[in-house]
Amino acid sequence: MLTTRPRGTNDILPGEVEKWQFLQQLTGQVCREYGYGEIRTPIFEHTELFTRGVGETTDIVEKEMYTFTDRGDRSVTLRPEGTASTVRAYVENKLHALPQPLKFYYIGPMFRYDRPQAGRYRQFHQFGVEVFGSNDPAIDAEVIAMAMDIYQRIGLKKLELHLNSVGCPACRPVLRQKLQEYFKPHLENLCPNCQGRYERNPLRILDCKSEKCQEFGKDAPTTLDVLCPDCSSHFEAVKGYLDEVGISYTINNRLVRGLDYYTRTAFEIMTRDIGAQSSIGGGGRYNGLIEECGGPATPGIGFALGLERILLTAERQGIVFPVSRGPQVFIATVGSGVARKAFGLLQNLRQQGITAEQDYLDRSLKAQMKYAGKLAARFVIILGEEEFDRGVAVVRDMQAGEQQEVALGELVSFIKHKG
Ligand code: AMP
Repeated sequence: MLTTRPRGTNDILPGEVEKWQFLQQLTGQVCREYGYGEIRTPIFEHTELFTRGVGETTDIVEKEMYTFTDRGDRSVTLRPEGTASTVRAYVENKLHALPQPLKFYYIGPMFRYDRPQAGRYRQFHQFGVEVFGSNDPAIDAEVIAMAMDIYQRIGLKKLELHLNSVGCPACRPVLRQKLQEYFKPHLENLCPNCQGRYERNPLRILDCKSEKCQEFGKDAPTTLDVLCPDCSSHFEAVKGYLDEVGISYTINNRLVRGLDYYTRTAFEIMTRDIGAQSSIGGGGRYNGLIEECGGPATPGIGFALGLERILLTAERQGIVFPVSRGPQVFIATVGSGVARKAFGLLQNLRQQGITAEQDYLDRSLKAQMKYAGKLAARFVIILGEEEFDRGVAVVRDMQAGEQQEVALGELVSFIKHKG
């Protein structure tokens, strides 16, 4: 136990973490360009926020939450996703009083107790955005375009954008009834899960993964058959904006988010490179959610992208990320008399913005040179007592394999100039 991490969690080590830093920097940059401000909410919240905000009949709430009772006998839950917390923060901080819409982004760990496998973890990371206060279809298109833009800048290829509209509380009851009529004769043959969904949430039978349910659901009515005129024109407008910026999509009328507060646009970005067909991101509109969470009726839309799955897809597609480079300078010392001077020089170089390293294991000069090679240092400054007394040091260019004496006072400009 002591030397094994909990199942479904990962250590992100130096060498790998640079990819994460790259993603964080890239998403932050894209958010600045699109006008989204970062929001940081707690990693845990009152359990009720998620039962309400994610929905009692969802897999997340039914079987995946990390819920525990704290020492004050309160039930708290490690956040399984980011939307509910962002909504809570919006309501609690009365952000609806500010000029709307408000556009947020977040990046960080999420927790779901699921069966771990490649691309599915118990602690995983999402980058997500949420926009509150606008029902404009241009916002739907903007968040979708933003997700696609991020994937594109990472270099991911062959992604499929699936798009649907799940209607609104005006058109969905019609669908609910139609679906129940349709599935009634097949009820006994549906999977146990869907038999339960039949009453509670028949829409979700449409996205059941079981082959049997998919077969029975092949000709089932879908949301697109029953969209009310407002939802229909909203959907047409979203598609129009996407067409305008050349984003291709596949209409997928099986893509559902079954809860009442999910409205209109639903989308998912899929790849075939990390399994049969895996989602690397998804989102949609939730015009009823903010009210459900105790706020004023406010439209909202957002998405979340899974960072582990992005990295896995990138790896499968052979995408090369910026790698960490060795230090610009390694200071090798000859004789213990220059240790303090070397330390002073090291500090000086770093303060001048030069990445610098030295030996801390009392190695011989030969071993220090070997170690500098392993660190992939660009230059080695060899500091000996005799040279120091003459006010110089030997600088070895590890790339060119040449070395020369440089005056101590010139070291910084020499490295900056050559490196
Ligand atoms: P969701 O919040 O379920 O819509 O998920 C949004 C994205 O998060 C998915 O498209 C995945 O890329 C990612 N994701 C969800 N669950 C997990 C998990 N258990 N492990 C890794 N990534 C996940």
